[in-house]
Amino acid sequence: MGKKGGKPDEKATHTQEEVGAQGSAQAQAPLSSRRTSGRSPVLLFRIGDLVFGGRPGRLVDGSREAYTNRPMSDTVYDVIIIGGGPAGATAALYTARAELKTLVFDKAIRAGALGITGKIANYPGIKEVLSGEELLRRMREHAELYGAKFIKSKVTGTVLTQDPKQVFSAEGEVYQAKAVIVATGSMGRSHTVPGEQELLGRGVSYCATCDGAFYKGQEVMVYGSSEETADEALFLTRYASKVFLVTPKPKLDVHEPMHAKLSEATKIEILTKTRLKSIAGEEGVDHAVLIKTTGEEKLPVKGVFIFTQGGKPIIDFIGGQLELNAKGGIKVNEEMVTSVPGVFACGDMLVREVQQAVVAAGEGCLAALSADKFINKRTTVAKDYK
Ligand SMILES: Cc1cc2nc3c(=O)[nH]c(=O)nc-3n(C[C@H](O)[C@H](O)[C@H](O)COP(=O)(O)OP(=O)(O)OC[C@H]3O[C@@H](n4cnc5c(N)ncnc54)[C@H](O)[C@@H]3O)c2cc1C
Repeated sequence: MGKKGGKPDEKATHTQEEVGAQGSAQAQAPLSSRRTSGRSPVLLFRIGDLVFGGRPGRLVDGSREAYTNRPMSDTVYDVIIIGGGPAGATAALYTARAELKTLVFDKAIRAGALGITGKIANYPGIKEVLSGEELLRRMREHAELYGAKFIKSKVTGTVLTQDPKQVFSAEGEVYQAKAVIVATGSMGRSHTVPGEQELLGRGVSYCATCDGAFYKGQEVMVYGSSEETADEALFLTRYASKVFLVTPKPKLDVHEPMHAKLSEATKIEILTKTRLKSIAGEEGVDHAVLIKTTGEEKLPVKGVFIFTQGGKPIIDFIGGQLELNAKGGIKVNEEMVTSVPGVFACGDMLVREVQQAVVAAGEGCLAALSADKFINKRTTVAKDYK
Protein backbone atom coordinates (compact mmCIF):
# COMPACT_ATOMS: atom_id res chain seq x y z
CA MET A 1 0.00 0.00 0.00
CA GLY A 2 1.16 3.52 -0.71
CA LYS A 3 2.47 6.05 1.75
CA LYS A 4 0.02 8.59 3.00
CA GLY A 5 0.91 12.14 3.98
CA GLY A 6 -1.98 13.11 6.25
CA LYS A 7 -1.75 16.87 6.71
CA PRO A 8 -1.45 17.95 10.32
CA ASP A 9 -4.53 19.49 11.86
CA GLU A 10 -4.92 23.22 11.39
CA LYS A 11 -5.58 25.23 14.54
CA ALA A 12 -9.00 25.53 16.07
CA THR A 13 -11.16 27.71 13.89
CA HIS A 14 -14.58 28.10 15.42
CA THR A 15 -16.54 27.80 18.57
CA GLN A 16 -18.67 24.88 19.55
CA GLU A 17 -21.96 26.19 20.88
CA GLU A 18 -23.12 23.15 22.71
CA VAL A 19 -22.36 19.47 22.83
CA GLY A 20 -25.61 17.51 22.74
CA ALA A 21 -26.40 14.32 24.58
CA GLN A 22 -27.20 11.57 22.11
CA GLY A 23 -27.32 7.81 21.85
CA SER A 24 -27.50 5.27 24.63
CA ALA A 25 -25.61 7.26 27.27
CA GLN A 26 -28.07 10.07 27.77
CA ALA A 27 -26.59 12.73 30.01
CA GLN A 28 -29.11 14.49 32.17
CA ALA A 29 -29.39 18.12 33.21
CA PRO A 30 -26.85 19.25 35.81
CA LEU A 31 -27.42 17.68 39.22
CA SER A 32 -26.11 20.75 40.93
CA SER A 33 -24.16 23.91 40.44
CA ARG A 34 -21.70 25.15 43.05
CA ARG A 35 -19.92 28.47 42.90
CA THR A 36 -16.67 28.98 44.75
CA SER A 37 -15.27 32.46 45.15
CA GLY A 38 -13.88 33.95 41.97
CA ARG A 39 -14.49 30.85 39.86
CA SER A 40 -17.03 29.81 37.28
CA PRO A 41 -19.66 27.41 38.68
CA VAL A 42 -18.89 23.71 38.97
CA LEU A 43 -21.61 21.60 37.37
CA LEU A 44 -22.24 17.99 38.30
CA PHE A 45 -23.73 15.57 35.75
CA ARG A 46 -24.82 11.99 35.79
CA ILE A 47 -24.33 9.59 32.89
CA GLY A 48 -25.61 6.17 33.88
CA ASP A 49 -24.07 5.44 37.27
CA LEU A 50 -21.26 7.93 36.82
CA VAL A 51 -21.21 11.46 38.15
CA PHE A 52 -18.86 13.98 36.59
CA GLY A 53 -17.99 17.55 37.43
CA GLY A 54 -16.89 20.38 35.21
CA ARG A 55 -16.98 24.08 34.53
CA PRO A 56 -18.31 25.40 31.26
CA GLY A 57 -15.30 25.16 28.95
CA ARG A 58 -13.19 23.57 31.70
CA LEU A 59 -13.31 19.87 32.27
CA VAL A 60 -12.71 18.21 35.58
CA ASP A 61 -13.52 14.70 34.51
CA GLY A 62 -15.22 13.08 31.55
CA SER A 63 -18.53 14.88 31.04
CA ARG A 64 -19.64 15.86 27.59
CA GLU A 65 -21.80 18.68 28.97
CA ALA A 66 -18.76 20.31 30.55
CA TYR A 67 -17.59 21.10 27.02
CA THR A 68 -19.57 24.10 26.01
CA ASN A 69 -17.94 26.94 24.09
CA ARG A 70 -14.82 25.01 23.22
CA PRO A 71 -12.78 25.77 20.11
CA MET A 72 -13.34 23.14 17.41
CA SER A 73 -11.31 22.50 14.29
CA ASP A 74 -13.06 22.05 10.93
CA THR A 75 -10.71 19.15 10.17
CA VAL A 76 -12.38 15.76 10.36
CA TYR A 77 -9.78 13.03 10.77
CA ASP A 78 -10.50 9.57 9.51
CA VAL A 79 -9.26 8.09 12.76
CA ILE A 80 -8.35 9.49 16.16
CA ILE A 81 -6.41 7.08 18.36
CA ILE A 82 -6.41 7.75 22.10
CA GLY A 83 -3.22 6.33 23.63
CA GLY A 84 0.16 5.86 21.96
CA GLY A 85 1.42 2.66 23.62
CA PRO A 86 2.09 -0.48 21.57
CA ALA A 87 -1.67 -0.91 20.90
CA GLY A 88 -2.21 2.69 19.75
CA ALA A 89 1.09 3.05 17.89
CA THR A 90 0.51 -0.19 15.96
CA ALA A 91 -3.05 0.86 15.15
CA ALA A 92 -1.61 4.16 13.85
CA LEU A 93 0.86 2.30 11.61
CA TYR A 94 -1.96 0.31 10.03
CA THR A 95 -4.45 3.17 9.65
CA ALA A 96 -1.77 5.43 8.17
CA ARG A 97 -0.72 2.70 5.75
CA ALA A 98 -4.38 2.31 4.81
CA GLU A 99 -4.24 5.98 3.78
CA LEU A 100 -6.49 7.08 6.62
CA LYS A 101 -5.80 10.54 8.06
CA THR A 102 -4.65 9.56 11.54
CA LEU A 103 -4.16 11.56 14.75
CA VAL A 104 -2.82 9.94 17.93
CA PHE A 105 -3.18 11.51 21.38
CA ASP A 106 -0.67 10.38 23.98
CA LYS A 107 -0.28 12.11 27.33
CA ALA A 108 3.36 11.06 27.89
CA ILE A 109 5.56 8.31 26.48
CA ARG A 110 6.51 7.26 30.02
CA ALA A 111 2.93 7.28 31.34
CA GLY A 112 2.09 3.85 29.88
CA ALA A 113 3.11 0.28 30.73
CA LEU A 114 5.59 -0.19 27.88
CA GLY A 115 7.03 3.31 28.33
CA ILE A 116 8.09 2.52 31.91
CA THR A 117 9.40 -0.99 31.19
CA GLY A 118 13.14 -0.97 31.85
CA LYS A 119 14.09 -3.89 29.60
CA ILE A 120 12.09 -5.84 27.06
CA ALA A 121 13.59 -9.02 25.68
CA ASN A 122 10.60 -10.91 24.31
CA TYR A 123 9.34 -8.71 21.49
CA PRO A 124 9.63 -10.66 18.23
CA GLY A 125 12.39 -9.47 15.94
CA ILE A 126 14.14 -7.41 18.62
CA LYS A 127 17.10 -9.57 19.65
CA GLU A 128 18.93 -6.94 21.66
CA VAL A 129 17.67 -5.97 25.11
CA LEU A 130 15.83 -2.67 24.66
CA SER A 131 14.05 -0.35 27.05
CA GLY A 132 10.28 -0.33 26.53
CA GLU A 133 10.54 3.39 25.87
CA GLU A 134 13.01 2.85 23.00
CA LEU A 135 10.81 0.13 21.48
CA LEU A 136 7.85 2.48 21.70
CA ARG A 137 9.80 5.32 20.04
CA ARG A 138 10.61 2.98 17.16
CA MET A 139 6.94 1.99 16.81
CA ARG A 140 5.89 5.63 16.73
CA GLU A 141 8.55 6.62 14.20
CA HIS A 142 7.37 3.75 12.02
CA ALA A 143 3.76 5.03 12.11
CA GLU A 144 4.92 8.63 11.52
CA LEU A 145 6.81 7.46 8.43
CA TYR A 146 3.43 6.67 6.87
CA GLY A 147 1.81 9.96 7.88
CA ALA A 148 0.34 9.36 11.35
CA LYS A 149 0.52 12.45 13.55
CA PHE A 150 1.19 12.17 17.31
CA ILE A 151 0.18 14.91 19.78
CA LYS A 152 1.45 14.96 23.35
CA SER A 153 -1.80 15.71 25.12
CA LYS A 154 -4.28 14.15 27.49
CA VAL A 155 -7.79 13.34 26.28
CA THR A 156 -10.26 14.46 28.92
CA GLY A 157 -13.59 13.68 27.27
CA THR A 158 -15.33 12.29 24.20
CA VAL A 159 -18.64 12.23 22.37
CA LEU A 160 -18.67 8.85 20.66
CA THR A 161 -22.32 8.36 19.84
CA GLN A 162 -22.63 11.02 17.16
CA ASP A 163 -20.96 11.45 13.75
CA PRO A 164 -18.39 12.81 13.42
CA LYS A 165 -17.17 11.77 16.83
CA GLN A 166 -15.56 14.36 19.09
CA VAL A 167 -12.45 14.14 21.23
CA PHE A 168 -11.59 16.82 23.82
CA SER A 169 -8.02 17.64 24.75
CA ALA A 170 -6.82 18.95 28.11
CA GLU A 171 -5.81 22.15 26.31
CA GLY A 172 -9.50 22.80 25.63
CA GLU A 173 -9.69 21.93 21.94
CA VAL A 174 -12.24 19.71 20.22
CA TYR A 175 -11.09 17.31 17.49
CA GLN A 176 -13.37 15.38 15.14
CA ALA A 177 -13.05 11.96 13.50
CA LYS A 178 -15.08 9.40 11.59
CA ALA A 179 -13.72 6.63 13.83
CA VAL A 180 -12.06 6.46 17.25
CA ILE A 181 -9.69 3.78 18.55
CA VAL A 182 -9.29 3.68 22.33
CA ALA A 183 -5.91 2.31 23.52
CA THR A 184 -5.21 3.97 26.86
CA GLY A 185 -3.91 0.92 28.71
CA SER A 186 -4.65 -0.14 32.28
CA MET A 187 -2.57 2.04 34.52
CA GLY A 188 -5.49 3.97 35.97
CA ARG A 189 -5.89 4.63 39.68
CA SER A 190 -7.70 1.99 41.66
CA HIS A 191 -8.63 3.94 44.79
CA THR A 192 -9.31 7.43 46.04
CA VAL A 193 -8.33 9.10 49.32
CA PRO A 194 -10.84 10.51 51.85
CA GLY A 195 -12.06 13.96 50.77
CA GLU A 196 -11.07 13.47 47.12
CA GLN A 197 -14.51 12.74 45.66
CA GLU A 198 -16.23 15.36 47.82
CA LEU A 199 -13.78 18.10 46.75
CA LEU A 200 -13.48 17.09 43.08
CA GLY A 201 -13.94 20.27 41.07
CA ARG A 202 -13.55 22.36 44.22
CA GLY A 203 -9.80 22.15 44.56
CA VAL A 204 -9.18 18.53 43.59
CA SER A 205 -8.31 18.02 39.93
CA TYR A 206 -6.83 15.41 37.59
CA CYS A 207 -5.73 17.90 34.96
CA ALA A 208 -3.39 20.84 35.56
CA THR A 209 -3.69 21.99 31.95
CA CYS A 210 -7.48 22.23 32.37
CA ASP A 211 -7.64 23.82 35.82
CA GLY A 212 -4.22 25.35 36.55
CA ALA A 213 -5.29 28.92 35.74
CA PHE A 214 -7.71 28.90 38.69
CA TYR A 215 -4.79 28.81 41.13
CA LYS A 216 -3.04 32.07 40.27
CA GLY A 217 -0.89 33.15 43.22
CA GLN A 218 -1.93 30.18 45.35
CA GLU A 219 -0.07 27.19 46.77
CA VAL A 220 -0.95 23.78 45.30
CA MET A 221 0.29 20.21 45.47
CA VAL A 222 0.76 17.60 42.75
CA TYR A 223 0.77 13.92 43.70
CA GLY A 224 2.40 11.13 41.71
CA SER A 225 5.75 9.93 40.41
CA SER A 226 5.54 9.72 36.62
CA GLU A 227 6.74 11.99 33.84
CA GLU A 228 3.11 13.13 33.48
CA THR A 229 3.17 14.25 37.15
CA ALA A 230 6.37 16.24 36.60
CA ASP A 231 5.02 17.80 33.39
CA GLU A 232 1.85 18.91 35.16
CA ALA A 233 3.82 20.33 38.12
CA LEU A 234 5.94 22.39 35.72
CA PHE A 235 2.79 23.62 33.97
CA LEU A 236 1.33 24.77 37.29
CA THR A 237 4.34 27.01 38.00
CA ARG A 238 2.87 29.40 35.39
CA TYR A 239 0.08 30.24 37.82
CA ALA A 240 0.67 28.97 41.35
CA SER A 241 2.95 30.77 43.79
CA LYS A 242 4.32 27.41 44.98
CA VAL A 243 3.95 23.80 43.79
CA PHE A 244 4.66 20.91 46.16
CA LEU A 245 5.47 17.83 44.07
CA VAL A 246 4.69 14.96 46.43
CA THR A 247 5.73 11.38 45.61
CA PRO A 248 5.49 8.22 47.74
CA LYS A 249 8.67 6.94 46.05
CA PRO A 250 12.28 7.71 47.05
CA LYS A 251 12.67 9.48 43.69
CA LEU A 252 10.53 10.43 40.69
CA ASP A 253 10.28 8.04 37.68
CA VAL A 254 11.62 10.61 35.25
CA HIS A 255 14.69 10.99 33.06
CA GLU A 256 17.66 13.23 33.77
CA PRO A 257 16.48 16.12 31.52
CA MET A 258 13.24 16.26 33.52
CA HIS A 259 15.16 16.17 36.83
CA ALA A 260 17.20 19.10 35.53
CA LYS A 261 14.06 21.06 34.55
CA LEU A 262 12.54 20.41 37.98
CA SER A 263 15.64 21.51 39.84
CA GLU A 264 15.65 24.76 37.86
CA ALA A 265 11.98 25.45 38.70
CA THR A 266 12.31 27.58 41.81
CA LYS A 267 8.59 27.39 42.61
CA ILE A 268 8.67 23.59 42.89
CA GLU A 269 9.50 21.79 46.13
CA ILE A 270 9.77 17.99 45.86
CA LEU A 271 8.68 15.91 48.85
CA THR A 272 9.78 12.27 48.47
CA LYS A 273 8.69 9.20 50.52
CA THR A 274 5.50 11.07 51.32
CA ARG A 275 1.96 9.68 50.95
CA LEU A 276 -1.29 11.56 50.52
CA LYS A 277 -3.58 10.41 53.32
CA SER A 278 -6.60 12.70 52.87
CA ILE A 279 -7.82 16.06 51.62
CA ALA A 280 -9.88 18.41 53.77
CA GLY A 281 -11.95 21.57 53.33
CA GLU A 282 -15.52 22.89 53.30
CA GLU A 283 -16.23 25.10 50.25
CA GLY A 284 -12.92 24.19 48.66
CA VAL A 285 -9.65 22.50 49.57
CA ASP A 286 -8.12 23.84 52.77
CA HIS A 287 -5.27 21.40 53.29
CA ALA A 288 -3.92 17.94 52.48
CA VAL A 289 -2.84 15.47 55.15
CA LEU A 290 0.48 13.84 54.28
CA ILE A 291 2.25 10.87 55.82
CA LYS A 292 5.99 11.43 55.91
CA THR A 293 8.67 9.14 57.32
CA THR A 294 8.65 11.45 60.33
CA GLY A 295 4.87 11.27 60.84
CA GLU A 296 1.68 13.03 59.75
CA GLU A 297 1.67 16.62 58.55
CA LYS A 298 -0.92 19.13 57.29
CA LEU A 299 0.00 20.88 54.04
CA PRO A 300 -2.07 24.06 53.57
CA VAL A 301 -2.80 24.15 49.81
CA LYS A 302 -5.78 25.35 47.73
CA GLY A 303 -5.37 22.79 44.96
CA VAL A 304 -4.53 19.07 44.91
CA PHE A 305 -3.68 17.59 41.49
CA ILE A 306 -3.51 13.79 41.50
CA PHE A 307 -1.61 11.70 38.91
CA THR A 308 -0.85 8.42 40.66
CA GLN A 309 -1.09 5.18 38.68
CA GLY A 310 -2.66 1.81 39.43
CA GLY A 311 -3.94 -1.23 37.58
CA LYS A 312 -7.36 -0.16 36.30
CA PRO A 313 -8.30 0.48 32.66
CA ILE A 314 -8.23 4.21 31.86
CA ILE A 315 -11.78 4.98 30.74
CA ASP A 316 -12.64 8.20 32.61
CA PHE A 317 -12.99 10.14 29.32
CA ILE A 318 -15.65 7.76 28.04
CA GLY A 319 -18.37 8.65 30.52
CA GLY A 320 -20.42 5.45 30.20
CA GLN A 321 -20.86 5.64 26.42
CA LEU A 322 -19.32 2.18 25.79
CA GLU A 323 -20.36 -1.18 27.23
CA LEU A 324 -17.83 -2.69 29.62
CA ASN A 325 -16.84 -6.34 30.12
CA ALA A 326 -17.04 -8.23 33.43
CA LYS A 327 -13.53 -7.09 34.39
CA GLY A 328 -14.27 -3.41 33.87
CA GLY A 329 -12.46 -3.12 30.54
CA ILE A 330 -14.13 -2.04 27.32
CA LYS A 331 -16.20 -4.83 25.77
CA VAL A 332 -15.13 -5.75 22.21
CA ASN A 333 -15.73 -8.60 19.77
CA GLU A 334 -12.88 -10.50 18.11
CA GLU A 335 -12.45 -7.63 15.61
CA MET A 336 -11.99 -5.06 18.44
CA VAL A 337 -15.41 -3.53 17.68
CA THR A 338 -17.09 -1.92 20.72
CA SER A 339 -20.80 -1.44 21.43
CA VAL A 340 -20.81 1.89 19.52
CA PRO A 341 -20.39 1.84 15.71
CA GLY A 342 -17.11 3.41 14.60
CA VAL A 343 -15.45 3.00 18.00
CA PHE A 344 -12.78 0.34 18.54
CA ALA A 345 -10.66 -0.60 21.55
CA CYS A 346 -7.45 -2.58 22.00
CA GLY A 347 -4.58 -3.38 24.35
CA ASP A 348 -4.37 -3.65 28.13
CA MET A 349 -7.53 -1.59 28.61
CA LEU A 350 -9.54 -4.66 27.58
CA VAL A 351 -8.22 -6.30 30.80
CA ARG A 352 -7.34 -9.68 29.31
CA GLU A 353 -5.54 -12.37 31.26
CA VAL A 354 -2.38 -11.94 29.16
CA GLN A 355 -0.96 -8.43 29.05
CA GLN A 356 2.04 -8.31 26.74
CA ALA A 357 3.33 -5.75 24.28
CA VAL A 358 3.04 -8.12 21.34
CA VAL A 359 -0.60 -8.91 22.20
CA ALA A 360 -1.43 -5.19 22.51
CA ALA A 361 0.27 -4.54 19.16
CA GLY A 362 -1.69 -7.40 17.52
CA GLU A 363 -4.95 -6.02 18.85
CA GLY A 364 -3.95 -2.55 17.60
CA CYS A 365 -3.57 -4.04 14.11
CA LEU A 366 -7.04 -5.64 14.32
CA ALA A 367 -8.63 -2.41 15.57
CA ALA A 368 -7.05 -0.44 12.71
CA LEU A 369 -8.20 -2.87 10.03
CA SER A 370 -11.70 -2.82 11.53
CA ALA A 371 -11.68 0.99 11.50
CA ASP A 372 -10.70 0.91 7.83
CA LYS A 373 -13.52 -1.58 7.14
CA PHE A 374 -15.99 0.75 8.92
CA ILE A 375 -14.85 3.99 7.26
CA ASN A 376 -14.67 2.54 3.77
CA LYS A 377 -17.87 0.52 4.24
CA ARG A 378 -16.14 -2.71 3.31
CA THR A 379 -17.78 -6.07 3.91
CA THR A 380 -14.43 -7.73 4.66
CA VAL A 381 -11.18 -6.46 6.11
CA ALA A 382 -8.71 -5.16 3.49
CA LYS A 383 -5.28 -6.80 3.45
CA ASP A 384 -2.34 -4.56 4.41
CA TYR A 385 -0.15 -6.13 1.71
CA LYS A 386 -0.28 -6.77 -1.99
C1 LIG B 1 6.76 -3.00 34.63
C2 LIG B 1 6.21 -3.67 33.41
C3 LIG B 1 7.03 -4.53 32.68
C4 LIG B 1 6.54 -5.17 31.53
N1 LIG B 1 7.35 -5.99 30.82
C5 LIG B 1 6.93 -6.54 29.65
C6 LIG B 1 7.79 -7.35 28.84
O1 LIG B 1 8.95 -7.58 29.18
N2 LIG B 1 7.29 -7.86 27.68
C7 LIG B 1 6.00 -7.59 27.26
O2 LIG B 1 5.62 -8.04 26.19
N3 LIG B 1 5.16 -6.86 28.02
C8 LIG B 1 5.58 -6.33 29.19
N4 LIG B 1 4.72 -5.57 29.97
C9 LIG B 1 3.32 -5.42 29.52
C10 LIG B 1 3.19 -4.41 28.39
O3 LIG B 1 3.99 -3.27 28.69
C11 LIG B 1 1.73 -4.01 28.19
O4 LIG B 1 0.97 -5.19 27.95
C12 LIG B 1 1.57 -3.07 27.02
O5 LIG B 1 2.38 -1.94 27.18
C13 LIG B 1 0.11 -2.64 26.85
O6 LIG B 1 0.05 -1.75 25.78
P1 LIG B 1 -1.12 -0.65 25.68
O7 LIG B 1 -0.79 0.13 24.43
O8 LIG B 1 -2.42 -1.30 25.76
O9 LIG B 1 -0.97 0.26 26.97
P2 LIG B 1 0.21 1.17 27.51
O10 LIG B 1 1.54 0.65 27.12
O11 LIG B 1 -0.06 1.33 28.95
O12 LIG B 1 0.00 2.56 26.74
C14 LIG B 1 -1.11 3.35 26.97
C15 LIG B 1 -0.80 4.76 26.50
O13 LIG B 1 -1.99 5.53 26.62
C16 LIG B 1 -1.65 6.85 27.04
N5 LIG B 1 -2.82 7.42 27.72
C17 LIG B 1 -3.48 6.97 28.81
N6 LIG B 1 -4.53 7.77 29.09
C18 LIG B 1 -4.52 8.74 28.15
C19 LIG B 1 -5.37 9.86 27.91
N7 LIG B 1 -6.42 10.14 28.70
N8 LIG B 1 -5.08 10.68 26.87
C20 LIG B 1 -3.99 10.42 26.08
N9 LIG B 1 -3.18 9.37 26.26
C21 LIG B 1 -3.44 8.54 27.28
C22 LIG B 1 -0.44 6.68 27.95
O14 LIG B 1 0.35 7.85 27.90
C23 LIG B 1 0.27 5.47 27.31
O15 LIG B 1 1.33 5.88 26.46
C24 LIG B 1 5.19 -4.94 31.12
C25 LIG B 1 4.37 -4.08 31.86
C26 LIG B 1 4.87 -3.45 32.99
C27 LIG B 1 3.98 -2.52 33.78
